[in-house]
Formats: sequence, C-alpha cells, structure tokens
Amino acid sequence: MNPLRILDSVSISAYAVLSGWLGFRIMQSWSLAGSPALLFYCALVLLLSYLIADLLSGVVHFLADNFGNADTPILGPALIHPFREHHDDPAEITRHGFLETNGNNCLVCIPVFLGLHLTYHWFSPEAAILVGTGVNGTLAFIFLTNQVHKWAHQPKPPAGVRMLQRTGLILSPDHHARHHREPFLNHYCITSGWLNPILDRSGILQFLLRIAGKQGRETS
Ligand SMILES: [Zn+2]
Ligand SMILES: [Zn+2]
Repeated sequence: MNPLRILDSVSISAYAVLSGWLGFRIMQSWSLAGSPALLFYCALVLLLSYLIADLLSGVVHFLADNFGNADTPILGPALIHPFREHHDDPAEITRHGFLETNGNNCLVCIPVFLGLHLTYHWFSPEAAILVGTGVNGTLAFIFLTNQVHKWAHQPKPPAGVRMLQRTGLILSPDHHARHHREPFLNHYCITSGWLNPILDRSGILQFLLRIAGKQGRETS
C-alpha cells in the first residue's frame, strides 16, 4: 500500500477516535450541566463553527494558491502542490478515493483535538460543553471540506448531495466554478462558500497580494 494512504488511514482513524472521545466527554459534561438554554447556545455555536470552517478553507486556499511553491518545505508537497495541480486538472480530485480525499484534513485536526483533550478539565461543565461542541463542530466541517469540494467537481454526485448543493447548504458546482474562471482570484471558500461574497468584497485578499508584490495566481 502507498505509504501516503497508510498515513491517511492512520489520520482518519485517529480523527474518529479523538472526535468520538470528545463527544463522550461532552455528554458527560451534559449530564452535569445540560439545559434547554444551553442546547440553544450549542446550536448557535455549531452555526458559528460552520462559518469558521468556511472562512478557514478560504484563507488556507488563498495562501496555498498565491504563496510559496511545490518546493516549499513540508507545506509545498502536502498543501501547495495539490491546490496548484487542481487548477491544471480540476477533474483530478474526482478520481481521489476516500482516504486521499480526507486524510490531509484529518491530520491537521489531530493537534487541535489533543490540545483540547489535555485542557478539557480546565473548563466548567457549561464552558466545556460549548467549547467542545465548537471544536468538534469546526473540525467536523473542516473534515468535510475536501469531500464537499470533490462533490462540487463530480458530474453526478449522490442524490442527497445534489439536494444539499441546490439548497446552498454546501458548496455548489456553479458557485465553485467561479474560482476556476478568470481572473482565478476569488471564491476561495470551499466548505459552504457562504463567506465568499464577504471575503471577495472586503479587499483584504487583494491588499495582501499587493503588499506581497503578487500580480496574479501562481502557477507552480
Ligand atoms: Zn484554487
Ligand atoms: Zn475546485
């Protein structure tokens, strides 16, 4: 088996264990401090988590598209090269299996899980529920991001996915297609795409490119 796929398998398994364990600890905290009001705040935290995941997907994607190159240590082969390669052959992502699609994102989530598990006892039960829900939610949406991106390029994704795309709950093919069109410098968010209008109109990305002396998207 390809060593990278073994790493992907280990990362996804570790993600599942750490996320499940966090869910169990949240349930334990809930038995101490759960309430209807807290359930409402948990729902708000999950919505915020979805927005944070979309924003992070946009920022990381923008940086990988425009800074460094395939030879940049560690991040070059792991992050920058796949994003640049995706521009040359957008359909390539649809040929990735489950492990290749999701292993990378699970790997980057592991240190965050470990950090929270080590510090979980610092929080009161109420705070632990909200922080745990926020972290588990944000990382779950980060986990889903590459899969959602892949579905946006698939000609025939599963029927349930097509419904989510049509309702705009996840990144739709039409929305994401704008990233793959000239000038190739917008629509970087690839979880739901909800934050693309804000990020694109804010001028922050163009400002960062200007101060870095960049004229347009890097090609290698
Ligand atoms: Zn891109
Ligand atoms: Zn794409």
